Amino acid sequence: MSRITELYGELVFNDRVMQERLPKATYKVLAQTINEGKPLDIEIADAVAHAMKEWAIEKGATHYTHWFQPLTGITSEKHDAFINPQPDGSTLLSFSGKELIQGEPDASSFPSGGLRATFEARGYTAWDPTSYAFIKDEVLCIPTAFISYTGEALDKKTPLLRSMDAIAREAKRVLKFFGKSPVQVSTTVGPEQEYFLIKEEDYEQRLDLILTGRTLFGAAPCKGQELEEHYFGAIRPNVNRFMQELDDELWKLDIPANTKHNEVAPSQHELAPIFLTTNAAVDANLLTMELMRKLAPHQGLVCLQHEKPFEGINGSGKHNNWSISADGANLLDPGKTPFENLQFLVFLTAVIKAVDEYQGLLRMSVASAGNDHRLGANEAPPAIISIFLGDELEAVVRAIINSKAHKASGDVMMDLGVPVLPTFIKDNTDRNRTSPFAFTGNKFEFRMAGSEVNLSDANMVLNTIVAKALADFADYVESQEDFEKAARDYLKQVLTDHQRIIFNGDNYNEDWPKEAQKRGLLNLKTTPQALPQYVADTSVELFERFKVLSKVEVESRYEVKLEHYSKKVNIEALTTSRLARRQYLPAIIEFATVIASSIAAKEDVGLTALTAEKEILARLNDCIEAIYAGAGALDAALEEVAKIEDSLANAEAYCEKVLPKMEAVRAAVDEAELLVGDDYWPVPTYNQMLFYT
Ligand code: ADP
Ligand code: MG
Repeated sequence: MSRITELYGELVFNDRVMQERLPKATYKVLAQTINEGKPLDIEIADAVAHAMKEWAIEKGATHYTHWFQPLTGITSEKHDAFINPQPDGSTLLSFSGKELIQGEPDASSFPSGGLRATFEARGYTAWDPTSYAFIKDEVLCIPTAFISYTGEALDKKTPLLRSMDAIAREAKRVLKFFGKSPVQVSTTVGPEQEYFLIKEEDYEQRLDLILTGRTLFGAAPCKGQELEEHYFGAIRPNVNRFMQELDDELWKLDIPANTKHNEVAPSQHELAPIFLTTNAAVDANLLTMELMRKLAPHQGLVCLQHEKPFEGINGSGKHNNWSISADGANLLDPGKTPFENLQFLVFLTAVIKAVDEYQGLLRMSVASAGNDHRLGANEAPPAIISIFLGDELEAVVRAIINSKAHKASGDVMMDLGVPVLPTFIKDNTDRNRTSPFAFTGNKFEFRMAGSEVNLSDANMVLNTIVAKALADFADYVESQEDFEKAARDYLKQVLTDHQRIIFNGDNYNEDWPKEAQKRGLLNLKTTPQALPQYVADTSVELFERFKVLSKVEVESRYEVKLEHYSKKVNIEALTTSRLARRQYLPAIIEFATVIASSIAAKEDVGLTALTAEKEILARLNDCIEAIYAGAGALDAALEEVAKIEDSLANAEAYCEKVLPKMEAVRAAVDEAELLVGDDYWPVPTYNQMLFYT
């Protein structure tokens, strides 16, 4: 066996290990739970727990943990040892079925958005058997859902699983009309993760990066990304070593890390795995991010996952490639003749309808303080949701709307004009890099998500809104006699009603927001503008109808997101003010004093041509005044905002009152940076951080 095949999945209690280690009957029942969602009883759980423990101990594990995703979106774990001390002073190593399927962490220190008062601290974790257990740092990690004593979801995973169930149910209803009864329908996700790597020694000197994940100060570097030399460029040796170690560790965890390359911005990179079932893909992405952070220091590097670590330089996103499949067959595969492929058209139309009807909800699902810096900044799609279909499918949609026939363009051979090069079939559509929601051959790529986000929310929304659109279709055709005619009529009507969401043009073009406004599309530029979409009546109705979230759960999540936004900006503001006063002002004043002394000394000896020094000093002095006044104004704004109790008004105030004050302080510091001597500047600059060797 090769090194890779040998290590692949080595740390995962996956299907292969289960087949090897579980009694046949136990395996069969567990497989039914995993594949068909059948409930699991305690005897089976006991047998699985025993096998899992034996396996984990052989692999060096000493502890187990229920690994879950509270509403902060990051992962949480509490380690319990397998030990079970005996009266004679020895210990058994034990792990029961009950311990496998259920945990009881104190829930009071996790955000709940008012769902749970601190005195009602009880929370439960429940095993998600559809995402395999794995070993990380000598700990057996069991992916779990996290719920409150009263049964409300306190995590990101539970509603995601519920949404997967909802879309599977509705897709099965639709597939029945096509004479199909698949066992398993699931959505699939392949997330492309972008990130930056900078030197550890630089990172350690930047409190803004340490506390907030982004630089709150820093003048633009002399060189940006204009030479377009970094994208797909040769990878630095230390970065390459990092990527190799990361691949190995991910492969051991059954995570199919596949593509890696340098990204557009200097020191920016990307990793894309092969897609998985949605909940497993989200778990895998979270583990990937954790491993990236953990392994970078092995090469003296730090991995930055914030959406916008450097102003003026491209930020990082996480493209969410999404599709739906039935027993492994991709339902968004158009085949060679999409116009004739009614089943494909039904699913395609469901996505178009869903995205148009619930644009706001989709936008909300990726709203965060970090992502606000990215969307609409000419490097990522604007905050307007639209769909790119490509020429071929757009023509199909037009034909349906206009009741015309459509002939597939067929295969076009690519002629490279060089005989030695192979000829190949051209894709029937070019790419559109600027669309927030692009059809890419046999899947949709939702490109608005930021690099730091937990993709559960985006996929929970996508699954639920498409479930609703599929249900609408099924409801309609159910009452009609002739299925095929009814389906064609339905498609024509729905595509006509929702064609405004289709946009194949350049989303970065300044005319697009105006055109989008004419079409009545939403343009929710900031997080406080986007979040109320969560609690809109139509959203609550949707989530309740498909049993993904109750009204109370929606409201609590909305509350948590608002608070999270405000807290993030508050930390940034405090860091801005603190650094301005304690790091930048002293450095600038010191340098100004050196110049002032030089002027005085020169005047002492009768030199009078001191224009340059006097001008520099005057400009520095202006900066010093502006920084000091700006920090004062920022502090005052923070005090004002702290008095606002309503969480939406509070978040809005952080956005509208605090962020501009932070910008003003930064502008003055960045101006001074260009005047102050290199040796006097207290932190590594953009030039240093982004262009290291
Ligand atoms: P592109 O180059 O168009 O972005 P890739 O083939 O590189 O496409 O795929 C990008 C990501 O999309 C990968 O993670 C890939 O596994 C994922 N992907 C491919 N097919 C599907 C699918 N059916 N469902 C979800 N993700 C998919
Ligand atoms: Mg892609």
